[in-house]
Amino acid sequence: MIKTDLMYEGKAKKVWKTDSEDYVIVEYKDDATAFNGLKKGTIQGKGIVNNKVANRLFKYLEENGVATHFVEELSDRETLVKKVEIIPVEVVVRNIAAGGLSKRLGIPEGTKLKSTVLEYCYKNDELGDPMINEYHAFALGICTAKELENIAYEAFKINKLLSDLLADLNIELIDFKLEFGRFHGKIVLADEISPDTCRFWDSKTGEKLDKDRFRRDLGNVKEAYLEIMNRLLGD
Ligand code: UDP
Repeated sequence: MIKTDLMYEGKAKKVWKTDSEDYVIVEYKDDATAFNGLKKGTIQGKGIVNNKVANRLFKYLEENGVATHFVEELSDRETLVKKVEIIPVEVVVRNIAAGGLSKRLGIPEGTKLKSTVLEYCYKNDELGDPMINEYHAFALGICTAKELENIAYEAFKINKLLSDLLADLNIELIDFKLEFGRFHGKIVLADEISPDTCRFWDSKTGEKLDKDRFRRDLGNVKEAYLEIMNRLLGD
C-alpha cells in the first residue's frame, strides 16, 4: 500500500490516504490536548506509545472475536487501518468512578461502581461533546437501533477482555472511550485504545498511568505512558 495525500489532521493523529480506497494510514503525533483543546502540550514519544499500545490491544481483541479497523503496523508511529465511516459517538465504559462521572454524580474517585456504566457522547467539538442517550442518537440519525445494540454489546465484551488482560499486568482499567465505524456496512472498532483514551491505575499503588497525569499536571507523564507500553509489550 502506498501512502498518498494527507486526508485529515486531528489533535493527536494524522490520517493519510493510500492508493486503495479501502485503507488509510494513521500517524500518531506527540501533541496532547485536554479539556476540549483548551490545554495543549507535547508528550515526547507519546505517538510511539499510543501506536504500539493500540495495536497490541486491537490484535488481542481481534484474536478474541472483536472486529477492528487494525490491519498492520507500518512503523513506530504509523499503522495501516481500514478506512471506516466514523460514527460520531464516543462510547465510554466505566468500572470505577473517576473524572466526569465523579463530578456529575458526586461519587468520589476510586469508588467501585455496583455495575458497569455505558455512556454515549455526541462527537462535536463546537458543542463540547455533549452526553446523549440512545434516543438522541436515533433522533439525530447518527446510527440505527441495530447498530447501537451491536456497539453496546461489543463495548461490554471489550471491557471484559481488556480488564482481564490488564489485571494480569497489575493495571486496573478504570474507564475508557471507544469509537466505532462502518466498513462496508459492518460495525468495527476504530480510533485508538491508549493512555490517551483510558484511565489506567496501578493495581498495587493506585498510581495513575494515563492522560490524567497531563490533564492534572501530576508530572512523570512520559514515564507513565512508557510504563504502560512496557507492561503490555515487555521491555
Ligand atoms: N475520554 C476520551 N476522550 C474524550 C473524553 C473522554 O478518550 O474526549 C476518555 C477518558 O480518557 C476517560 C474516559 O473517556 O478514560 C471517561 O472520561 P470522562 O468522561 O471522565 O472525561 P474527563 O474526565 O476527561 O472529563
